[in-house]
Amino acid sequence: MGWNIDFEICALIILGVVVALHISKQYVSIRRSHLFLAMIAVECVAILCNIGLRQMLIYHGISIGTAGIALIDFYIAVQYALPLLFMYYMVVWSGKSMIYSHNRWAFILFWLPIVSYAFVVGRNVVEQNLYRLDAKLGYVETSAMMALNWIAIYAVMYGLVYAVVYIRILSFERLSVIGLSGVFVAFGAVTQYYMTSAMYIDFLIAVTLLVLYLVAQNPADMLDGNTKVMSRSMMDEILRRDIEAQKTFELIVLALDDFKFVNKTFGVTTGDIMLMQVAHYLMTLTRRGRVYRYGADQFVLQVRHNEVDMNAILDHIQERFRHPWITEEVSVMLSTTISCIACPEDGSTMETLVDVIDYSVLSAKTQGKGSVVFARDMDLHALRKEKAIEKAIELAMDRDTIEVYYQPIYNTEKQCYTSAEALVRLNDEMLGNISPEIFIPIAEKNGMILKLGTMIFEKVCRFIAEQNLKDTTIEYIEVNVSVVQCMQQNFVEELIEIMEEYEIEPNQINLEVTETAAVNSLSVLQENIEKLHSKGISFSLDDYGSGYSTLGYLHQLPFQIIKLDKLMVWDAFENERAGITLKFTVGMLKELKVRIVAEGVETQEQQKHLTGIGCDYLQGWYYSKAIPGEEFAQLIQATG
Ligand code: C2E
Ligand code: CA
Ligand code: CA
Repeated sequence: MGWNIDFEICALIILGVVVALHISKQYVSIRRSHLFLAMIAVECVAILCNIGLRQMLIYHGISIGTAGIALIDFYIAVQYALPLLFMYYMVVWSGKSMIYSHNRWAFILFWLPIVSYAFVVGRNVVEQNLYRLDAKLGYVETSAMMALNWIAIYAVMYGLVYAVVYIRILSFERLSVIGLSGVFVAFGAVTQYYMTSAMYIDFLIAVTLLVLYLVAQNPADMLDGNTKVMSRSMMDEILRRDIEAQKTFELIVLALDDFKFVNKTFGVTTGDIMLMQVAHYLMTLTRRGRVYRYGADQFVLQVRHNEVDMNAILDHIQERFRHPWITEEVSVMLSTTISCIACPEDGSTMETLVDVIDYSVLSAKTQGKGSVVFARDMDLHALRKEKAIEKAIELAMDRDTIEVYYQPIYNTEKQCYTSAEALVRLNDEMLGNISPEIFIPIAEKNGMILKLGTMIFEKVCRFIAEQNLKDTTIEYIEVNVSVVQCMQQNFVEELIEIMEEYEIEPNQINLEVTETAAVNSLSVLQENIEKLHSKGISFSLDDYGSGYSTLGYLHQLPFQIIKLDKLMVWDAFENERAGITLKFTVGMLKELKVRIVAEGVETQEQQKHLTGIGCDYLQGWYYSKAIPGEEFAQLIQATG
C-alpha cells in the first residue's frame, strides 16, 4: 500500500486557508458564494474519506467489510460531484439559470453529465464496478472509472465554455487563469488514473479552488472598497440573474447632489466617511434588500416587489436627509435626488435597465435638488427610440449597409461642378431612412462615430479611386468629420493610412468641421487639424452663421473654405436685415481670403443673388440633392 497522503494534507491546509480568508472578510451572501463554499466542503469531505480509506486499508487490508465498501462508494460519489458543482457554479454566475433556460441545447448539455453521473455512481453502489480490491495493490480503479473521469472533464469544460460565452464581467486575464486551472485539474484527473499511488489530484483541486477564490470569489472585488456595499459589477451580475429568473423588484436610485462640493470643502476623507454613512444607512432600510454603489456618488437599493412599502421607504429617506450627517469634525447637510424604477415594467433587460437608471437620474437632476422621480411617469419613448437607433447603426456597420451619397457643389467661376459633399445615409428595415441629423449625434454620444467615421472616410476614398475622379472636373470631395473624431490622438495617422491605401492625393480631400460646444480641448483639435493641413489636406468650417458660432474658430484654425449655413442663406431672402448681414459676412470672409460655399440653394433667385454677392461655390437642391455614387458619377460625366 504505497499511498502517500502528503499531498492530501497539503490540500487540506490550502482549503483551510481559503476558508479562513473567506470568513475573515465580509461574506457576500449570493448564490455563487454559497456554491463556492459548498465546493470547498465537498472537497474537504472527499479528502477526509480518502485519508480514512487509506488508514482502513493499512489496518485491515482488503477485508474492510461493508462499512469500508460504503466509504469507498461514498468517496467516489462525493469526489465526482465536485466538477458538476463547478459547472453549476459557472452557470449560476452567468445568471443563466438552467431552470429558466430558453436555450434547449445548453439545457440538454447541462443535464447530460448530471444524469450520466447519477447512473454511473448509482450502478457502482449496486455492483462496485468502478474499482476492485487487490491483495497486493489495495484499491485499484477499473477501466469503468474512466467514464466518471470523462464526465468530470466534460463538466469542467462546460463550465469554462459557459464562462467564456456568458460571463462578460470577468476580464480575459481572470478567465484565462480559471481556464488554465480547469485544464490543469482535467489533466491531473487523467494522469491520476494511470498513477494511482500518487494522490495529487486533490492537491490540484485545492490549488484551483484557491485560484478561483483569488480571481473570482474575493470579497475585495465584490464589495466597494470604501463603503463596503456591493460593487457595480456585482449589481450587474445579480440584476442580470434576477431578470433571467423573472423576479420582480424595484430599484431606488440615490444620486447625491453636489457631492463634489463636499469633497472640495471638507476633503476627500470626510467625503468618504459621508458616503460610508449613507451606504450604511441604506443597508438598515430593509432586511433583505441589497445596496450597491452605482457611481461615485450614486447608490442603488434593490428591494423585492411587495417586500416593503415603497412610500414608507421614500419618506424615511427624505426624512433622514433633512438631518445632518455627522463625522468627528463636521456636520453636513446632504441632499439627494431619488429615482424609482420597477423591473420588469420599466426595463426588462439589464441593458435597458441601466439606460433607464441613467436616464431617470438625469431627469431627476434636471428637476432639481432633492427631487423624486418615478420611471413609470417618465416618457421613456425618447430613450427607447434612441436605443433602437443605436442598434440600427450597429447593425448597418456590421452588415456594411451604410451608404454614402454625394451632393455636387457648383463652382460659380468655372461654371461647373468642381466638388461634392459626401453625406452618409442609413436605412433600417424597421425604422426606415434615419436622418444623419438624428443618428450622428447618437453615434457621437456613445462613441460609435469613431468606427462609423472611419468607415465613411474609407468609402469616400474608395469611391474617388474607383471612379477616377482625378480625370473629371471634380477636384476634391468634402467629408464631414465630427469633432469627436478630430480630438482622437490617432486621427491623423488613421486618415493618412486610408488615403495611402487608395492612393488618394491630399488635395482630393476636404474635411468639414462644425463648431460645437462639445470641444473641450481646442489644443488637441488644433494640433490634429494643423498636422493634416501641413500634409496638404484642406478644411472647411461648416454651418457658419448657425446657432453655435463664434469667430474663435475662424481665427485659430486654418480654414480655407467657409460654408454658410442654409438657414442664414434662406433668412437673407426673407428678411432685409438678414440680407444685409449675409452681404457683409461674405465681404468680410473675402477679406479674410477664404473661399465661400453657400448651402441650401433651392431657387434660381437665390443662385443669381448669391453669385452676385461673391459666393465662390453653391450647393443645394437647385442643382441636385445628395445622390448615390454611381448616379453622381453619371451626372459628372454628363455635365463635365
Ligand atoms: P450638413 O453638413 O450641413 O449637410 C448639409 C445638409 O443639408 C444635408 O442633409 C443635405 O442633404 C442638406 N441639403 C443640401 N442642400 C439642401 C437644400 O437645398 N435644401 C435643403 N432643405 N437641404 C439641403 P443631411 O444629408 O440630412 O445631413 C444632415 C447633417 O448630418 C449634415 O449637415 C452633417 O452635419 C451630418 N452628416 C451627414 N453626413 C455625415 C457624415 O458622413 N459624417 C458626419 N460626421 N456628419 C454627417
Ligand atoms: Ca457638411
Ligand atoms: Ca452645413
